[in-house]
Amino acid sequence: MTPTLAVVGAGAKAVAVAAKAAVLREMGVAVPDVVAVERTAVAANWQADGGWTDGQHRLGTGPEKDVGFPYRSSLVPRRNAELDERMTRHSWQAYLISTGQFAEWVDRGRPAPTHKKWSQYLRWVADNIGMKAVLSEVQQISVDSGAAGPRWALHTADQTVHGDALMITGPGQPERSILPGNPRVLSIAQFWHRAAQCELISAERVAVIGGGETAASMLNELFRHRVSTITVIAPQVTLFTRGEGFFENTLFSDPTGWTSLTLAERRDAMIRTDRGVFSARVQEALLSDDRIRHLRGRVAHAVARDGRIRLTLSTNQGGENLETVHGFDLVIDGSGADAEWFVPLLCQDALDLLELGLGGPLTSDALQEAIGHDLAVTNVTPKLFLPGLSGLTQGPGFPNLSCLGLLSDRILGADIAAADGAPTVRSTGRSDEHQPIR
Ligand SMILES: Cc1cc2nc3c(=O)[nH]c(=O)nc-3n(C[C@H](O)[C@H](O)[C@H](O)COP(=O)(O)OP(=O)(O)OC[C@H]3O[C@@H](n4cnc5c(N)ncnc54)[C@H](O)[C@@H]3O)c2cc1C
Repeated sequence: MTPTLAVVGAGAKAVAVAAKAAVLREMGVAVPDVVAVERTAVAANWQADGGWTDGQHRLGTGPEKDVGFPYRSSLVPRRNAELDERMTRHSWQAYLISTGQFAEWVDRGRPAPTHKKWSQYLRWVADNIGMKAVLSEVQQISVDSGAAGPRWALHTADQTVHGDALMITGPGQPERSILPGNPRVLSIAQFWHRAAQCELISAERVAVIGGGETAASMLNELFRHRVSTITVIAPQVTLFTRGEGFFENTLFSDPTGWTSLTLAERRDAMIRTDRGVFSARVQEALLSDDRIRHLRGRVAHAVARDGRIRLTLSTNQGGENLETVHGFDLVIDGSGADAEWFVPLLCQDALDLLELGLGGPLTSDALQEAIGHDLAVTNVTPKLFLPGLSGLTQGPGFPNLSCLGLLSDRILGADIAAADGAPTVRSTGRSDEHQPIR
């Protein structure tokens, strides 16, 4: 029996892994069946429906960082060049060529595609490979210990999908809000829903909570609305710009050497390049707009009073915790992206399994530090792949779009056996970032 890799979410990562599995299958290599369970549609988070964008904003990374990037496979000895060549048939350029858009894209100077165009590319790949997707929201995740051995069970409102291994994807739910139901507080999804309806926001004092890329893309949208001041609330010292030079970019595309850094060095590199930083493009726009300022702190409390939202910010100043209160006409809660969003879906048996593997309570640090080379939680069977949490131990490119081809190699190279022990592709056991055997 062929083992099944179940995936929560049919986004960029699911499409990349399914594409590589399809190509390996074409080459006669045994791979798991990849089945995604998706609550909305393939690549939904890149369209207005998903709640993370209105679809009109542009991709931050280059589209050439597509489902096969960096095209340095190391899964099948002596046939990796063939594997990469076959993967180029699912590349961004192949999509443009097949849809008659390639020459125009080149002549326009290779612009970053809108999120919507990126979703169309991902759907094109998914269609071409006949990706299996079950359209239903995963509401609970448990472990089924049937006679044949343990496997994951993904429960939706009307069915259960089983997997011999499980991969969790996506940034979580964009509906989170510090004051749900208050019309003066917008969640990420409510904000983008308004933008997609071309509704202009009109307010004097607006606060955006969050200093990461999600908040940055909302700021990029807010510029064109009728607002007098925009205050970005984030805990960091200032609104840092992401380094996008060759050396920073290389860290994302090629994690060779990442594991030889100390955890402190890795955390430092991630803070400089990934966490709470705005892209150079957004910073350039911020520079020319004098309505924007940064307020340092974490939102501890929010309350509606006298037609305003009063936010209590806590700031650490010289070791002392200082609390200050600030009033706004509108608050946009952009702090929603959360790589651990799936934890509340885990049933007690799944939590017990994880805590057993971790050797202690399930904490954010314990989970991140336990992610192994295959992007799964070490010592947990059946396998649980958490690429969104693998930045710290495996490289900062795995949680995002920076090296989807390498991510697919790591996952498909893992030892996933069906309950009856049928083998799948095995990695070559070497460092897969350099000099693959061809
Ligand atoms: C606005 C925005 C712009 C970004 N731009 C970039 C960029 O330019 N470059 C970059 O590298 N990274 C970018 N990122 C980061 C981005 O999240 C990841 O790079 C990328 O989405 C990861 O792909 P994924 O497959 O994990 O998730 P996604 O592509 O987000 O897919 C997750 C899927 O899971 C589904 N889902 C969620 N919950 C459930 C559930 N309970 N049951 C079933 N399905 C569910 C969603 O509907 C969605 O389709 C951006 C993120 C955002 C929010």
